[in-house]
Amino acid sequence: MVCLSMTDANGADGTGDATETYRQVETYKQVLVIKRATGTDDLQPPQLSKVYNGHNWALSTRWDDSNANALNVRRKMLENGIRGTFYLNSRKPEKTPATSLACKLTGAGECSVGGHSVSHPKLPELPANDAFRELMANRITLEVLTDRPVNSLAFPYGAYQAKDRPEVLEAITKAVLRTGYHHCVYKNFVTRNPNLPKGLISTGHQVVPGDRQVNAEKFWASINKIRKFQKGYRKESDCIFLGVHPWQKGDALEDLANVMSDLRNWDDFWHCTHTEYAAFVKQRNYTTVTKTGTDTFTIERPGAYDLGNDIALTLEFEGEGIATATVDGIVCPMRKAEGKTFLNISHAARQGLPETIDEATAGKSPAFPGLDTALTFDTETGQVVYTLSNSAAAPLTDAVLTVSLPPSFEPGFFRQTRPDLKKGATWSATIPLADEQAGDYWRKGNRYIAAQLDFILDGKRGRLFTTSTVSPQLAAR
Ligand SMILES: [Zn+2]
Repeated sequence: MVCLSMTDANGADGTGDATETYRQVETYKQVLVIKRATGTDDLQPPQLSKVYNGHNWALSTRWDDSNANALNVRRKMLENGIRGTFYLNSRKPEKTPATSLACKLTGAGECSVGGHSVSHPKLPELPANDAFRELMANRITLEVLTDRPVNSLAFPYGAYQAKDRPEVLEAITKAVLRTGYHHCVYKNFVTRNPNLPKGLISTGHQVVPGDRQVNAEKFWASINKIRKFQKGYRKESDCIFLGVHPWQKGDALEDLANVMSDLRNWDDFWHCTHTEYAAFVKQRNYTTVTKTGTDTFTIERPGAYDLGNDIALTLEFEGEGIATATVDGIVCPMRKAEGKTFLNISHAARQGLPETIDEATAGKSPAFPGLDTALTFDTETGQVVYTLSNSAAAPLTDAVLTVSLPPSFEPGFFRQTRPDLKKGATWSATIPLADEQAGDYWRKGNRYIAAQLDFILDGKRGRLFTTSTVSPQLAAR
């Protein structure tokens, strides 16, 4: 089902408040059954933990640009129990995805990759259409390379606005939301952005050890400041992360390793990637837990594929009187600390992450033979049309279509669902657009549009992107 959490928005069909369309997320229900320890009273509904497993802080790292030394930094991170996210560009196509830097850095999920634009331009210097393409096409490339969702962004040069041109921040904010990112390493973009509705994008507190030379003294002073004034910092995020560039070599790399070694158990940390943290925060924002019986609760939560990671949800119960707990018959991992019980609730198998992510070329998908797609933009009628034909051997089910458009169009983020598409059937979704926003900044450049289809085919979850580019000449209306 489509859940418009937090507000009763009517944006699902492209009408109503445009910002509400970004709050669409697919949710599903699970049943939690508690077995109380003997002598324990009736349970109150739980809180949703702010950090996974009830830890004190999330700790991560952020390293930018496609730099081979990132592999050395990654090795030192893992040796010291530190994890994180590498923000990559995607200038050149990769001939062999498995040996790409993105796949090597991701590994088996110890680390993850985030978006850093296709070609590392200063986004405010580009027309709105090109800024959108830089973000969207980069995310698609990284997802196809790694077969994992990408939900987190670092702007190249940290640039997202222009003095005396407020339309730049407006357009770039729209481009970020339409690309589907819901985490950004630039805190001010998230917390001091009049164009960004609250609660859509998470962020963190950056602490810099030093890109070339490590200044441990300065690092510890900065991180101690966060701990000392944590009440204020926590209003913005429960994540602390190291950054910015993985340039440390020789002695500097050893200095960085020493900092990470001391940091490992410096506080009660959840060591995570930004992808996990982003998914955890979004999941928390869109989950409801309802008591439905003496010892049963119904959990309604977003699917992992829609969050970008399958990190468990953590429920926080007062007291330590829970003996065991199961969700849909599966035992939940449990931790008891400081008079509380933390239950970690995994996703249902059908609501997990895509196993394969592909992009169609000329309507055909090498990874999903038989699924043929088309994405067209009719400049006469002003409609975007997505078509999917299923001639695969199996029925396609649980389809969720998300169409993303450049900032000059409304709606710019369109979603439609379809429970199943039988073998031989065709599905067509039409999106009527409002007139394109006027002005050179909005209209220059090619209009790049993207459709993301999430689905289950033959029991396996997949994702298929279809993109299309319309030249300015064709788009003149
Ligand atoms: Zn960069």
